[in-house]
Amino acid sequence: MAYMGCRTRVMGNIYDPRKETTKGRGNLSFTSINLPRLGIEARGSLDRFFSLLDKNMDLVFRQLRHRFEIQKRKSVHNYPFLMGEGIWLDSETLGKDEEIERVLRHGTLSVGFIGLAETLVALTGKHHGESPESQRLGLRIVQHMRDRCDERSQNEQLNYTLLATPAEGLSGRFVQMDRELYGSMENITNHAYYTNSFHIPVYYKVTARQKIDLEAPYHALTNAGHITYIELDGDPSLNHSVFEDIVLYMKESGIGYGSINHPLDRDPTCGYIGVIGTVCPRCGREESRSEPFERIRRITGYLVGTLERFNNAKRAEVAERVKHG
Ligand SMILES: [Zn+2]
Repeated sequence: MAYMGCRTRVMGNIYDPRKETTKGRGNLSFTSINLPRLGIEARGSLDRFFSLLDKNMDLVFRQLRHRFEIQKRKSVHNYPFLMGEGIWLDSETLGKDEEIERVLRHGTLSVGFIGLAETLVALTGKHHGESPESQRLGLRIVQHMRDRCDERSQNEQLNYTLLATPAEGLSGRFVQMDRELYGSMENITNHAYYTNSFHIPVYYKVTARQKIDLEAPYHALTNAGHITYIELDGDPSLNHSVFEDIVLYMKESGIGYGSINHPLDRDPTCGYIGVIGTVCPRCGREESRSEPFERIRRITGYLVGTLERFNNAKRAEVAERVKHG
């Protein structure tokens, strides 16, 4: 089975278990929780943290449901292609003027989270790459969130799912708000971004194997989508067996959606593609301001030729990324 992408995994279907399929349905809405803020507000008390988490989850559930109640009152004629042409599951069974609740119930409503690493630092002083106890607590937190989603799904017969939010705009926005509120806190609010969902911080040195081992258990819990990526420093086309080893190890470890990031440069003058330092290996020309080499990097879901169009938080994150040996 294929996911649509790291942020849209649509598989289970509590509303109609005969239609646990990726086709003809999708994610209706998602809302992300600022976990580090709850970690800071808990002031060292796990009880307080979990009670804040429950309160925030209830708020998100209510908001998602409220939005669903508005969406479901639309009619087939509002969606002449998706519903009128029978693209969405069961839409072919509805008349032009009928409301679309029966179709939308196949979709998912997702609760997301950002910054598990910063949350763990706030609660224990160490993130889950630094301490096995923090990893246990991290799994306990995410398991709790998943349990709440499953319970809510049962009660309302709607697909509430848990999302490992990739966070592009949010990554910088939440941390900026929290820095204004709480000041700069070491490895909590002092970076320009909050760490993607359950990831090990990008600046923390771990091997590819350790990163996969630490992040894989969270994939089983985040049923709305997730990603784990490994940063390589060289050109994987020159080392196929290492590339294959990483892919196979991801698969054996339970990584649902994985990616290998590696630099890929292009000289627009001679067309050379590969890793280029300051001199092109083919034509020998040095990089110049008037004709720079194109540097393709993977930031979140997209391959980009330049970092300029990304927001400051994501650019700061890319600058702090370490390679995984
Ligand atoms: Zn060249």
